[in-house]
Formats: sequence, structure tokens, C-alpha cells
Amino acid sequence: MITTTAPKILALDFDGVICNGLKEYFQTTLRTYQKIWSDHSQDNLQNWANSFYQLRPVIETGWEMPILLRALVLEYEKENIESNWHNICAEIVEQENLNKQQVMTALDGVRDHWIQTDLDNWLALHEFYPGVLEKLGKLLDSSTLLYIVTTKEGRFVKQLLKQQNLSFPESNIFGKEVKQPKYETLRQILKDNQETPNHLWFIEDLLKTLNTVKSQEDLTEINLFLADWGYNTVKSHELVKQDSAISLLSLNTFSKDFSKWIDA
Ligand SMILES: [Mg+2]
Repeated sequence: MITTTAPKILALDFDGVICNGLKEYFQTTLRTYQKIWSDHSQDNLQNWANSFYQLRPVIETGWEMPILLRALVLEYEKENIESNWHNICAEIVEQENLNKQQVMTALDGVRDHWIQTDLDNWLALHEFYPGVLEKLGKLLDSSTLLYIVTTKEGRFVKQLLKQQNLSFPESNIFGKEVKQPKYETLRQILKDNQETPNHLWFIEDLLKTLNTVKSQEDLTEINLFLADWGYNTVKSHELVKQDSAISLLSLNTFSKDFSKWIDA
């Protein structure tokens, strides 16, 4: 009898696992910033690009990005942003009389408008990580079911995959529109497929998200992977190396057979 270690279901995060959208993040953030803050005393917003890229791992959902740029403009120290982002973000939101929903709506509005008016330009700001599309293409032909679980709006993901000619089933893409935490979506995927957690593997680049999945009592048997090529830090790699519930995955290993993934 042939035994296989291939998972029945593989769920992947999108940004920082499949696609590197750092350039798009920054340009969308910049445009959103200019809508929210009309005092254009900062005509050099572009100069913050590198700091923004470096600090991207602190961001959990897109709406925080304009707040991150604001924090840089307000000259919060980088180290402080890195270790204390949650509080700084809340502080700026409060001081500037903003709310999450309003910033999120502005950001998605900028993106939608950009896609409608200059799709090619918008698409060109995205880079797919080397080998990832090829691997997904192969997996789509295999017995493993694929899902994308992302905090980006699903319609943006569909647009990007369509451009790459990857025939990813659209009903298997769960974006921000599902309005629930990722662990809830994973639970739903298991239920829809009548599968048990040990048959589900999940790749994500945000350690905090993996930890929240891990802490769900009914989901502890999901195989969790931190994509080390995404928006995370060496510090989080070190934490994962000491965590038996999460495996650190490199891009090189990702392209290999599933049997190489665990304890790689
Ligand atoms: Mg991600």
C-alpha cells in the first residue's frame, strides 16, 4: 500500500505567501494617506518607502497601513513601532479622530479606483514569489484541495490570479469579505469538506495568526507553517523553531514534496 503524506486540504494566505505586494501596499497607502490627511506639508511621503517595507510585519490588516505611514511622518521611532505597534496605532486613531472602518473604506476605495482606471499599472506592482505559481499549478492537478484564506478583499486576489492564468477555483478564495477570523474560515473549510483538522495544512506569514489558530482547542491538529519568505522577522523564525506546533517553511522547501515540509 502506498502511503502519502500529502494533505487532503492545503490552505494558504495570499500576501506574504503567494504574492509580494509591498510596492502596491506602499503606493495604495500613499494615495489613501493623501485622502485622509489633506495637510500636504509632507510632500516627501515617497521617502518613507523603505521604512514602510521594513515595518510591514507589524501590520495585521490593511487599514493599519495608512496609520503606519502616519506614524512615520509623526516621527515615531522605528524600534518603538516594531515593539509597540498595537498601542501606537490605537493612539493615532484616537488622537486623529479616525476609525478603522473609515480608513478601510478609503483604502479599498483607492484600490478599486486604481484597478478600474489603470489595471495594468496596478497589476505591475505585484510580484509573485519565485516558483509559487508553478507549484500551485501542479497542486491544482493533484488530489490536494487548495484554498486561499486572506485578509485582502477576495476580488483583488481573483484579479491577480486571473492575470497569471492560474485557474484557481474562485469559490475556494476566502477574503476579507467573509468577515471572520482565519481560524473560523479554516473551521468552515473542514466542515464543508467533512474533514478532520489533521488533514488540513495551513501556510501563513503572520505568526500571530498561526498562534490564534493553535489556541483553538478543536483545531490543534492542523499542521501549521510559517512562510519564512513573507512579512516576518528573524525573531519570529526563532520562536517557531522552539514551537513544536508550527513548522518553519522556506520557499525552497515549499516547492518540494510534502514529505519534506515537516521538520524541514
Ligand atoms: Mg500574509
